[in-house]
Amino acid sequence: ERKRWDGIWLAGQRDTDPDTIFDKIVAKEISAGIVRETDDILAFTDINPAAPAHILVIPKNRNGLSRLQKATPEHVEILGKLMVVAGEIARDESLGFGPDGARIVVNDGPAAGQEVPHLHIHVIGGRAMAWPPG
Ligand code: 5GP
Repeated sequence: ERKRWDGIWLAGQRDTDPDTIFDKIVAKEISAGIVRETDDILAFTDINPAAPAHILVIPKNRNGLSRLQKATPEHVEILGKLMVVAGEIARDESLGFGPDGARIVVNDGPAAGQEVPHLHIHVIGGRAMAWPPG
């Protein structure tokens, strides 16, 4: 288990590191339910939704952001844009989100359940959420 995570944590830190499944979605090599697209951001439905509404918001270019802990001042602009898009999605009732709000979350690392080493914001809603999360 440790070995697997070592490999995953080394991914995404250099331009030469391997693509993830999200790069294939960005490249439209595999299909996803895309709900927003800008020059540098893509938002699409999660393939295994945790609630009636579950959207992932990602930077198209990982640029070293395999996880939030890798963020540096060079990422401030894209991180701000990601948060704005996440908020727009959370108030989009056509996507299944309700007026009472959503859970907007980043899983950072194995203890949090992160599986894909390409930063993504989960926007999860359409039902009431418990706190603390599991
Ligand atoms: P993490 O656990 O890394 O925070 O979240 C990764 C998310 O990506 C999971 O919720 C998982 O369901 C989703 N996911 C994994 N592979 C695919 C895929 O090929 N397509 C889509 N749309 N979502 C995926």
